[in-house]
Amino acid sequence: MNMTRTSAAELLRDAFGIDATHNLIAGQWHPAAGGATLPMDNPSTGETMGQLARGQAADVDQAVAAACVARDAEWSRLDAAERGRVLMAMSQKVLEYAEVLARIEALDVGKPLRQAMADAKALARYFEFYAGAADKLTGITVPYREGYTVFCEHEPYGVVGSIIPWNYPMQIIGRSVGGALAAGNCCVTKPSENASASTLAVAAIAHSAGLPAGVWNVVCGLGSEAGAALTVNPGVDYFSFTGSVATGRRIQEAAARNVKPLALELGGKSPHVVFDDCDLDRAMPTLVATCMQNGGQTCSAASRVLVQRGLYEEVKARMVAYYEGLVSGPALEDHDLGPIISAPQSERIAEYVARGERDLPVAARGRVSAGAPRGGHYVAAVLFSEVPPEHPLAQEEVFGPVQVLTPFDDEDEAVRYANGTRYGLVAGLWTRDGARQLRVARQLRCGQVFVNNYGAGGGIELPFGGVRDSGHGREKGFEGLREFTQLKTVAVLHEA
Ligand code: NDP
Repeated sequence: MNMTRTSAAELLRDAFGIDATHNLIAGQWHPAAGGATLPMDNPSTGETMGQLARGQAADVDQAVAAACVARDAEWSRLDAAERGRVLMAMSQKVLEYAEVLARIEALDVGKPLRQAMADAKALARYFEFYAGAADKLTGITVPYREGYTVFCEHEPYGVVGSIIPWNYPMQIIGRSVGGALAAGNCCVTKPSENASASTLAVAAIAHSAGLPAGVWNVVCGLGSEAGAALTVNPGVDYFSFTGSVATGRRIQEAAARNVKPLALELGGKSPHVVFDDCDLDRAMPTLVATCMQNGGQTCSAASRVLVQRGLYEEVKARMVAYYEGLVSGPALEDHDLGPIISAPQSERIAEYVARGERDLPVAARGRVSAGAPRGGHYVAAVLFSEVPPEHPLAQEEVFGPVQVLTPFDDEDEAVRYANGTRYGLVAGLWTRDGARQLRVARQLRCGQVFVNNYGAGGGIELPFGGVRDSGHGREKGFEGLREFTQLKTVAVLHEA
C-alpha cells in the first residue's frame, strides 16, 4: 500500500479494495441508484480527491430491508458472547489499520494526523469496550405477588439508523454503531457527505473481521436526500443522531411521525468555570486545548472561559501566550489545528469572528501557516475578552477555533453565566474547595461536569449526552449499551 497517497479515494481502493462511489448494502458494494455521485473534497487543499455515492431513497430502502433480514436471520439471536467476539475482532483489525485510517481521516476531514490517529485508537477502544459489555447486559427480577415470577430483560430495538456528522466520524461510529451492534441491533449508517471515507473503511474492516452481511449497511449521500429518506423509513426502529440542533429537530419530527425513539447529541456552548482558588498551573494547558481540538469543531468544545475576577487578568495573559503559538495548517503537516471542514463552515466562522471584531476586544490570535494551500479552508484561532454573557459569541455554537473570556464576581454569578445559554452539554469546574466542587457541580445544568479536568481523557467508559438544546439520550459507557435496548417485562403465573 502506498501511504504517501494524497487521495482518500485512492487509499480506500489500495487498502480495502473499495470503490468510494459504492454503498455497502447486504455485504455487497453497489453504486447508488441511478449511478449518482458527489465530490469528495480535501479541506486542506480545496481539491476534489474522488467521488462518493449519492445515495437515494431507493438505496436507503434496500439497506433497511437488508438490516431487517439480518436482524431476523441471526444477529439479534446470536449468543451475546459471540457478538462480543466479532466486535473484539473488529477492534483488533481497526488497530491493525490505524495508520491508514488516520491518513484517510486527515485527508477527508482535515484532522491533524495525531488527532486522526487518536480517533482511530478511540474507535478500537469503543469496539473493545462494547465487545466486553455485550454479554453483561443483565436484566432484573421483580418481587411480585404470590404465584408469579417476573423478570425484565433488555431486548435490542432491531434496526438502528445512525446519522454521523463530519467532525468525529470514527469516534461516533464507535459509540453508536459499536453500542448498537453489541446490544444485538443491525444498523444503517448515513455518514456526512463531507466525511464518508473512514466510515466506508471501517465498514469494510468490520466485514473482514467477521461481521455478517447486512448487519451493518452504509449509504453515503446528502443529508437532505439519503439522510432524510432514512429518517422516514418505517423499518428503522431507533435513531442515533449527532449534529446541529436544526437537523436534530427535523429528525425528531420525522421520528415522531413513525413513533420511533431516538437519541440526539446536538453540541453546546460549554464553559470552563475557573475560581480564584484553583490550581492555575494545572488548569492552563486545558483551558485553550479543549476548545482548539479539531479546530473547535467539537460538540463539547470549551468555547467559553468564565474566570473569577481575582484571577481574570492572569488567566487572560497566559491564554494570550498560548494563542500566540497556535498554528493552523494542512492536516498531513500535523499542526495544532487543521483546516475547517468546508468553505460554508469556514465562512460561517468568519462571520462570527467579524461580529466579534465589531463588538469585542480581540485578546489574541493564532496564525495560519505560511505554506498552507490557498484553496484550503483555514481559520486562525481567535480569543475575545471581556465578553458579556448575552453576546451572540457567548451564546451560539460557532464550531470553530473561537473562544470567549468573561469575568465573574462570585459563585452565584458563575453558575448563572454557566447555565445562561440554551445548551447543556459539558462544564469544566476549577476549584480546590471540595464543598464548592460538589455544590456547583449539582447546580450546573448539563450532562457532565469535569472537576479540575475537562473530558477525563476521553472516557469511553463514561456516559455522555446533553440536556436542553444539547439533546437527550446517553451514549458511551454501559449506559450507552442500554440506550440501544428496550425493556421487556415477562410475568409468569405458576400453576397453583
Ligand atoms: P447537520 O446537523 O446538518 O449534519 C449532521 C448530519 O446530519 C450529517 O450526516 C448530515 O448529512 C445529516 N443531515 C443533514 N440534514 C439531514 C436531514 N434532513 N435528515 C437526515 N440527516 C440529515 O450539521 P452541518 O453539517 O450542517 O453543520 C452545521 C452546524 O451544526 C455546525 O456548525 C455545528 O454548529 C453543528 N454540528 C454539531 C455537531 C456535533 O458534534 N454536535 C456535528 C456537526 C455539526 P450531510 O452532511 O451529508 O448533509
